[in-house]
Amino acid sequence: MRAVLIAIYPGSFDPLTNGHLDIIERGIKIFDHLIVGVLKNPHKQPLFTPEERKEMIQETVKCFTNVEVDVFDGLLVNFAREKKCQVIIRGLRAISDYEYETQIAVINRKMAPEIETLFLPTSTEFSYLNSTIVKEIASFGGCIRGLVPPAVEKKLRDKFSKNAPWGILSE
Ligand code: ADP
Repeated sequence: MRAVLIAIYPGSFDPLTNGHLDIIERGIKIFDHLIVGVLKNPHKQPLFTPEERKEMIQETVKCFTNVEVDVFDGLLVNFAREKKCQVIIRGLRAISDYEYETQIAVINRKMAPEIETLFLPTSTEFSYLNSTIVKEIASFGGCIRGLVPPAVEKKLRDKFSKNAPWGILSE
């Protein structure tokens, strides 16, 4: 009998987009168990707290039985070891992602040779999509439907409708 395969998909997820969700849905087809690791990064000023980001992801993935969402800080490889993950999943959009991601993967492998990094290329419809763009559109009252899951859309509306002079975001 083969070992249970556990993967971690780490990131800021500030907030989760449909590009992230696509990687999660493809990841769970490959692995027995997938942990979405929400990074608590002291060097970044996120829009949402780690707990808010975790809740939005949990709400979105509650239909999947083999996905777990956790907040972590410190070194990813330490958290991956603690969670008994054999694989780190990262999504790749452009060549610029590749350069940075390879560097991190090589360093992680040096620290934890037993853990492999697996890159999943983005699905073309999400290649332009990232959390920063979504926040930018939402902050100006633009429509973000189709870019993020409904739970995230709602949270972004709540967050920005308070500042928006027009009250609510446009449909
Ligand atoms: P980080 O700060 O760790 O890059 P992100 O939340 O921006 O956190 O991204 C987490 C992971 O998801 C990264 O591997 C990133 O390349 C990947 N990713 C982000 N957006 C997309 C997308 N649209 N398609 C595929 N992968 C994506």
